[in-house]
Amino acid sequence: MSGSLSRGLLGLGRKTGAAPALARNYLKSANIPLAKYGGRHTVTMLPGDGIGPEMMGYVKEIFRYAGAPVDFETVHLDPTTDNYDDLYNAISSVKRNGCAIKGNIETKLNRPDIKSRNVEMRNDLDLFVNIVRGKSQAGVKTRHEDIDIVMMRQNTEGEYSMMEHENVPGVVESLKIMTDGHAERLCRYSFEWARANGRKKVTLIHKANIMKVTDGLFLEVSRRVAKDFPDIQHEQMIIDNCCMQLVSNPWQFDVMILTNLYGTIVANLVCGLIGGPGVISGINVGPRYAIFEPATRNTGSKLTGSNRANPCAMINASADMLAHLGLDYHSGLIRDAVDTTINVDMVHTEDVGGRATSMDVVQNVINHIKSSTK
Ligand code: ADP
Ligand code: MG
Repeated sequence: MSGSLSRGLLGLGRKTGAAPALARNYLKSANIPLAKYGGRHTVTMLPGDGIGPEMMGYVKEIFRYAGAPVDFETVHLDPTTDNYDDLYNAISSVKRNGCAIKGNIETKLNRPDIKSRNVEMRNDLDLFVNIVRGKSQAGVKTRHEDIDIVMMRQNTEGEYSMMEHENVPGVVESLKIMTDGHAERLCRYSFEWARANGRKKVTLIHKANIMKVTDGLFLEVSRRVAKDFPDIQHEQMIIDNCCMQLVSNPWQFDVMILTNLYGTIVANLVCGLIGGPGVISGINVGPRYAIFEPATRNTGSKLTGSNRANPCAMINASADMLAHLGLDYHSGLIRDAVDTTINVDMVHTEDVGGRATSMDVVQNVINHIKSSTK
């Protein structure tokens, strides 16, 4: 698959003529029209905390230069309160608009009484899969080259059920929930995506030797679904071994299916291998809605306002969103500009070994857009 970054992720590689986006197919099958007034789309913008708001400023600026016919409905979330009106507002905005671009919302570690708004939103909108394509960037120097792994992460259940409690003082429990139906949906989506995108192998990552019932079910479901895809090789691997294999021989992986917790760990690991948190985007998809965000979902609090954060991950997320809206021209324009900035012009922020500021990167992206639209 030669389409750049997550253009290919959405199955929209212009250069390859790949099958259309599964995400979009889901929207079509739900038959819910996306908000589009006067030929323009309205999408929800959830700036989040830390560097989120400044990244959104860059996205708006870039959309203006690209002429993307998109208006934003911005909803701010306050992660410090157990009054969830802001969250319900955000959820109904996404339901109205069909999709959102999102920065990470801070979740306080020491406040078990406050729910994670990130997780609540994914659950409520039924965004059952988080797709991250970890692809090496020719212009970013890393230990390994030519990695191209697509991670399909369980996004709505598993270890993130948020059902934790203390039975008696000093004894706490956390529920890991696995349902046959949701596991099947994730596996089927992953195999279909692999087939539609010319991928050869799907590896299910589990810990069924210890979590025999929950991960056992995950494993069983994947084997069952794999029978319907004889053209795709199916393997299973235990999560600990998977992490070792990833750092020693990452090229053996093609598409991976992971539980919620293993998924976030492995996606961060792979992002680390290909250049860190600032480069690639991730997509959260369900039958009706989609949310676009940087793959590693960091708030980057320490970088806030410093003009040092790498804006590429969020800009790529915005290009994913445009592709999802069917705005392939604008999506390609932005993605190509980012690709050239990273891999040809080598305009790099310090996280990828350079000395450029966030604004230098954004300006370089805008310059490319300007020259392509002259
Ligand atoms: P979390 O959101 O999980 O608290 P952090 O926000 O601390 O994680 O981010 C993890 C690391 O990644 C930090 O070192 C942070 O500076 C770095 N980081 C996150 N986002 C970016 C970015 N866009 N550009 C450069 N570095 C980033
Ligand atoms: Mg943080």
